[in-house]
Amino acid sequence: MGVDEYDNGLDATEGVEFYSGILCAGFVNAHSHIELAYLRGAIEEGGGYAAFASSIGKVRGEFSEEEQLSAIVEADRAMWAEGVDAVGDIVNGATSFAVKESSKIYYHNFAEVFGLRECNLERQRELLRYSNTSLTPHSTYSVQDAPFKEVCGSAIDKPLSIHFLESESESKLYNGEGSLHEWYKAVGFECDFLHYGSPTQRIVESVPGQRSVMLVHNCALAQCDIDTMVSHFTAPLYWVLCPRSNRYISGIEPQSVALLRASKLNICIGTDSLSSNWSLSMVEELKQFSGVPLAEKLQWATINGAKALGIDDRFGTIEVGKHSGIVNLIGVNLDDFTLTEASRAVRIL
Ligand SMILES: [Zn+2]
Repeated sequence: MGVDEYDNGLDATEGVEFYSGILCAGFVNAHSHIELAYLRGAIEEGGGYAAFASSIGKVRGEFSEEEQLSAIVEADRAMWAEGVDAVGDIVNGATSFAVKESSKIYYHNFAEVFGLRECNLERQRELLRYSNTSLTPHSTYSVQDAPFKEVCGSAIDKPLSIHFLESESESKLYNGEGSLHEWYKAVGFECDFLHYGSPTQRIVESVPGQRSVMLVHNCALAQCDIDTMVSHFTAPLYWVLCPRSNRYISGIEPQSVALLRASKLNICIGTDSLSSNWSLSMVEELKQFSGVPLAEKLQWATINGAKALGIDDRFGTIEVGKHSGIVNLIGVNLDDFTLTEASRAVRIL
């Protein structure tokens, strides 16, 4: 990663190609939902989390299977062209698997278990016949106690990917307040897990400490959540940030990045889905963290994601024996190594 100086002799060496900017390893998009690519622009920005969740249910039926598939093909193509080698991808159904089978991108598929009234656990188990697929609960507010514990306690060699503290309403639900609580009350959803007292406490009491977990969003994270998590887990935890999605849905800025950096935790980058983002560009996500050194951000976007998905033997750094892509970051300010508005990634290899 980075730029090396070279002596004058190198440009005469046969077979040497020159690129301006920075070369880095291929990216690992730690959190996306490629099957929702057809919803680009379908949900209005800034409505808040509860409004977003209920509109997704409404607009989903408005698109044909063909439209859904062609959006998945285009999203896969765009991610590859912009240097994404691997994706931690949430799946609810089977629509994306045909594209993935012929894709150059490596996908780890998290078959998402959710449903307060009717849990889809059995249906999601059928998706385990596809390669690189494991179960995960959607979040600490959308799955009842028994299926949550069952998913968290089985196949513990596989990582989990849990939407976590995306908004304050997740914690407030446990205190009988906030927008999720109001929504559940209005539609008559009962929760049998509120005795845990908080999303964090629910996770540490349900997930074995030796299991690796990707915690996705972390917008409403407090230091006490970090402390509780870190003291429970012996396996590595990965804190996935998706800043553009948070801004799209609720206008929330990724404040927790300072806490995570101060505790030297493993930060990863995800784009979330095109239902809450205008593109699946990793560089656009990195632009949101203007005060953080570029070399550190590139680790978030490469090796940290690869470790989280357990594929760092193949991806995440440019090393002999690995199969990482090589990405050219152009439009970078090379005087102070910062991204500019014009920065973008182009795959070279
Ligand atoms: Zn998500």
